[in-house]
Amino acid sequence: MAIELRNMTEGFADFLHDESRREGHAEKICFPTSGNDVFQALEMARQYNWPVTVQGGRTGITGGCVSDGGLIVNLSRMNAIGEIADGQMTVQPGVLLADVRAKLQGSGLFFPSDLTETSASIGGMVANNASGARSFKYGAVRNWIQSLEVLLPHGEAVRLERGVQKAEGLYFRIGSIEGELPSLGIPDGVKTAAGYFVEPDMDLVDMLVGAEGTLGVVTEVTLKLLPEPEQMNGLTAFFLSEAQALEFVRFLRDGFDPVAIEFFDFQSLELLRRMKKGVAAFADLPALNPEFHTALYFEFDSEVPDDVVSRCDDAIDCWLSEGEAEIAMLKNFRHAIPESVNMLIGQRRKLIPELTKLGTDMSVPDERLEAMMQMYHEGLAEAGLEYVIFGHIGNNHVHVNIIPRSMEEYNQGRALYLKWAEQVVAWGGSVSAEHGIGKNKTDFLKLMLGGEKLKAMQSVKKLFDPENRLNPGNLFPDVDA
Ligand SMILES: Cc1cc2nc3c(=O)[nH]c(=O)nc-3n(C[C@H](O)[C@H](O)[C@H](O)COP(=O)(O)OP(=O)(O)OC[C@H]3O[C@@H](n4cnc5c(N)ncnc54)[C@H](O)[C@@H]3O)c2cc1C
Repeated sequence: MAIELRNMTEGFADFLHDESRREGHAEKICFPTSGNDVFQALEMARQYNWPVTVQGGRTGITGGCVSDGGLIVNLSRMNAIGEIADGQMTVQPGVLLADVRAKLQGSGLFFPSDLTETSASIGGMVANNASGARSFKYGAVRNWIQSLEVLLPHGEAVRLERGVQKAEGLYFRIGSIEGELPSLGIPDGVKTAAGYFVEPDMDLVDMLVGAEGTLGVVTEVTLKLLPEPEQMNGLTAFFLSEAQALEFVRFLRDGFDPVAIEFFDFQSLELLRRMKKGVAAFADLPALNPEFHTALYFEFDSEVPDDVVSRCDDAIDCWLSEGEAEIAMLKNFRHAIPESVNMLIGQRRKLIPELTKLGTDMSVPDERLEAMMQMYHEGLAEAGLEYVIFGHIGNNHVHVNIIPRSMEEYNQGRALYLKWAEQVVAWGGSVSAEHGIGKNKTDFLKLMLGGEKLKAMQSVKKLFDPENRLNPGNLFPDVDA
């Protein structure tokens, strides 16, 4: 049966944005349930000369799944989950992280990727090489992808198996596409999700992971699973100052093997206090003592080492959560921060519709941790902006969320963000550690790579998709930028 294409005017306005609140437009939308449906959708797009935008869970925050016209291919109905076998599980791309977790319950197996947003789809996570708190130990989702089925932009289906299809030096072949990998000089030892991952002799699965849907549509994913850790212990420590918390970060990561180290600044704790008091949906958040200035959340997939327990005396309070169920409650606390920011932005947009949140996603080398925090605080204090800082401090990767009250503040925030990005690049960091570039951060990718390397990256896109049909606007603002 031919796939049905629906007009956007038939009540599909919700599909014109993601969590960045970027608004798009499109002529048609379709909801494939199989790889063959996706193939048909690509064929029709070619026939009518429509650009194609792929969507998963639409939780992205860079506008990557927001279309600028043409056909939206929404994969949310490709949500079949296969059986678990040999420590692996095969899923369709629209399966949500929450569904994977539910399926694994009681199996004794564990999928280490733990985004804060569990309604992200596996296809979207692959496309963005997503991370989460536990990436500090387990790495980004790339590490947990065994194989992919992909439809290339011209409609050819390919299967890529880790360890099987590899580049020979710089030469690669994926299906009928072959060429030379460019040299992009990816920052060493820094967490990054900014543009294509390429290196000599690479596993070709990794070319598609993090490509933001610009090289092909992921139609099936085989996940690698780990035995479930025998225990999981999470600690939330509250400090009187940020400096004490940063010292604790160094203590933890230099001497131990935690799974995650997460950070919540003073403003984040204040926002949670305000939300608990004023918004019914947040009433169940734990009460936070007014003395708590900065918090760290860290996790061990083993007994908490004795030295760590004694060093917790440096904190004014420390909560222990044992096992996944108690940890999940604390994760609600973490999730409440971006949710609250989004709620505030939503309220302000009613008065100023152009307003969006400004969220940073940059990482720096280990030695720049304190300098990075100082740079953020100084810039924000000088500009007098409303903000929160939270996130994956173990990887020197925190999210500064600026919550503008006017377009003037928005523009001030954007200018500040650009200045920070220049400094981060000068320090050898990445302009995107986990959210990707999408359509909202293409200027930052250009800043990080420079014109020549950006062109080299685009040469890969042109090999795969000379008509620039698939996810145009992601990574590169236009084909010849
Ligand atoms: C509250 C909140 C917390 C978050 N926390 C985290 C976090 O901890 N870590 C993190 O990494 N991210 C986080 N995110 C960002 C977001 O969840 C991730 O970027 C996620 O990977 C997006 O998945 P999705 O299914 O929603 O993709 P979408 O938003 O639908 O799409 C994202 C990109 O992937 C492409 N794409 C989607 N599916 C496919 C496919 N099958 N084939 C090819 N391309 C495809 C789209 O075209 C688009 O470019 C958070 C977001 C929110 C709102």
